[in-house]
Parts: sequence; C-alpha cells; structure tokens
Amino acid sequence: MANYNISIIKGDGIGPEIVDEAIKVLNVVGKKFDIGFSYNEFLMGGCAIDATGNPLPQETVDGVLASDACLFGAIGGAKWDSLPRELRPESGLLRFRKEMGVFANLRPAMVYDELVDASSLKPSVIQGVDIMVVRELIGGIYFGEPKGKDEFKGWNTMVYTVPEIERIAHVAFKLALKRGKKVCSIDKANVLDVSQLWRDTVIRIGAQYPDVELTHMYVDNAAMQLIANPRQFDVMLTGNIFGDILSDEASMLSGSIGLLPSASTGLKTAVYEPIHGSAPDIAGMGIANPIATISSASMMLRYSFGEDKAADAIDNAIKKAMKDGFRTKDLAAFGAIEVVNTSKMGDIIASNI
Ligand code: NAD
Repeated sequence: MANYNISIIKGDGIGPEIVDEAIKVLNVVGKKFDIGFSYNEFLMGGCAIDATGNPLPQETVDGVLASDACLFGAIGGAKWDSLPRELRPESGLLRFRKEMGVFANLRPAMVYDELVDASSLKPSVIQGVDIMVVRELIGGIYFGEPKGKDEFKGWNTMVYTVPEIERIAHVAFKLALKRGKKVCSIDKANVLDVSQLWRDTVIRIGAQYPDVELTHMYVDNAAMQLIANPRQFDVMLTGNIFGDILSDEASMLSGSIGLLPSASTGLKTAVYEPIHGSAPDIAGMGIANPIATISSASMMLRYSFGEDKAADAIDNAIKKAMKDGFRTKDLAAFGAIEVVNTSKMGDIIASNI
C-alpha cells in the first residue's frame, strides 16, 4: 500500500477551516483506494508570527522539504499588516516559495457546468472553458534586484535568465501534451527586453515539442482575450507578474474565488493551495467554500503521487455536489437547492466518494 507523508500548513483566517475539509476528503479517498496518508502540521504566516516571531520558522522549511508534498491553506490578515514588510506573513510566503524552489505555478481555470450562471460573463462565452495558467513563480520583478524606495522614487527590476525561462517552458509544453496541445506564451516583447528574451527562449524550447502549437500574445491583449474569447486558450505560459494578474482574471471566469486550486511544483517539493487568501472577513463563521482546497488535494494526488483514479474520484465528487445543488454561501445565488456550511460541504464531497 502506498503511503504518503503530507506536510500541512493551515495558516490564518479561513485556512484551518478549509484545510480540515480537504484532510477529511483525503482520508476517505485513501480508504477507498488503499492509499495511506500521514500528516505533519507546521506553522506559517500570522499564526507563526504570534507563536515564534517569525512568519516562516526554519522548522516549517525543514518539515515541508522532508515531506512528499505540502497542503497549504492561506495566510495573512489585518492584525499583522502594520509590521515591517519583511516580518509580515506575505514575506514569509514569498520566502517559502523561494526556499521550496517551486518555480512553476499551475492554475487551472475551468467552469463547472452547473455554475455557468455564476460568472459575470455570458454562459455562451464561458461554457466549456478549460485553461491551465502556467506561471513562473520565483523570478521576475517580484524578486529582481536592485529594488527599493526612497522618499522620491521606488524601483524594482524585472529580470529573467535563460535557464529560468527554459525550465518553466518545458513544464508548459509537457502539460499541453496531456491536454489540448496548445501553448500561448504571454509577454510584452514589444516594449520589454526581458520579454524578448522570454519569447526567443520559448520559441527555441517549443521546437522540441512539434506536436504542440505555440502562439504568442502581448499581456494587454491576453487580458482582453480572456474576457472576449476564453475558450481559445489551453495552456497559457507566463512570467511571474503577468501570471499573477492573468490567473486571477482567469479564475473569475468560474464565478467564485472559492472554487479554484493551484499547484506549485519545482526543484525540491510541491505545494498545493487554493488560489484565494485567508478571507479574514469570513474567518471563523463556518461559511468558507472548501472546494478550492479539496480540489488542491486532488491536484496533489494527480501531480505529486500519480494517483489519478483517486484524483478523479475527488473531482467527480465535487461535480456531483454541484449537480445535486449543494452550495456554500458564496454561491448561494446560483442554483442552490441547499446552502450548506464549510464542514457540511466537506461531508457531502467525502460521502460522494
Ligand atoms: P481573499 O482571497 O482572502 O478574499 C477576497 C474575497 O473573497 C473576500 O470577500 C473573501 O471573503 C472571499 N473569499 C476568499 N476565499 C473564499 C472562500 N474559500 N469561500 C468564500 N469566500 C471566499 O483576498 P484578500 O481579502 O485580498 O486578502 C486577505 C488576506 O489574505 C490578506 O492578508 C492577503 O495578504 C492574504 N492573501 C494570502 C494568500 C495566500 O495565502 N496564498 C493569497 C492572497 C491573499
């Protein structure tokens, strides 16, 4: 029997509530498919600051690196916003990604048929949308040096090296082979030198994948096209800042930020987390939508452990819950037969398995 050691970071706000539901579902799927999971919990973000004074304790870094994969909730909250930037929860998260070497962030944006009305776009535009945004996560302007600010100006540097572009491009092309065999690389090569290097490198790597159709799009046009005709996209390959913005935009095609998972994979380990934050406005109320986190656990089974059948079982259990009309409060206006709380949604998905 396969046995996987999962590191758990629940984090702040709704983090603990939603991660608990994902563990509930993992345990049920583990029983059904004869997969063993052991869990080790670590602190990060505001709760780690409160307990240790450090948003990312070394114990967390070591513990996650020693695990097979990490399931992560969300961090942050107003309580810690007045701290100096380097001591805030968000700085811990950036440092965490760098320490884990997770250079590839995979963010699917798909639309559940039952929720086509939840999108702000017309059903005819979004029905059948199935996009995978592959975002470079530990380079580009969020990490480039020099950076800083004085009283008069602020500056950051957008920098990419050829190896950084090559490795993320390979991830995108390999994923495209398993999906719709199309990669659209996003850049701003008409203005930025770093983007021209990006485009040249992606074209060179693309030549190794003759079965994948490669196109290029400027980021401003991509922002428009995502709204105008999202079905044209299969895999979107982007740098860090463009991917940050476009993947949020793509996620809203689905109608709720509470639905979508993500995977960050790379050199040492992989981290699976919902795309949303810690939602302090609803923390502790038991109304958070746990589906993005449960779906992240499914991505973990698929991408880290190769347990595709178990992953499919979770995905189908979520779809059945949607089809049967169960909705958390964020989606109550869209075809709800019964509005349920966080824990009940976890129970329903687990029992569907
Ligand atoms: P957010 O994603 O936490 O919340 C945005 C809105 O969406 C809120 O109204 C919230 O109630 C709602 N929402 C989010 N997740 C939901 C869910 N699962 N179910 C139902 N509704 C949900 O973004 P924000 O308000 O900009 O940020 C709050 C805190 O989270 C900040 O401290 C921010 O820095 C942090 N943050 C953390 C991460 C992360 O841990 N990866 C990501 C983004 C933001």
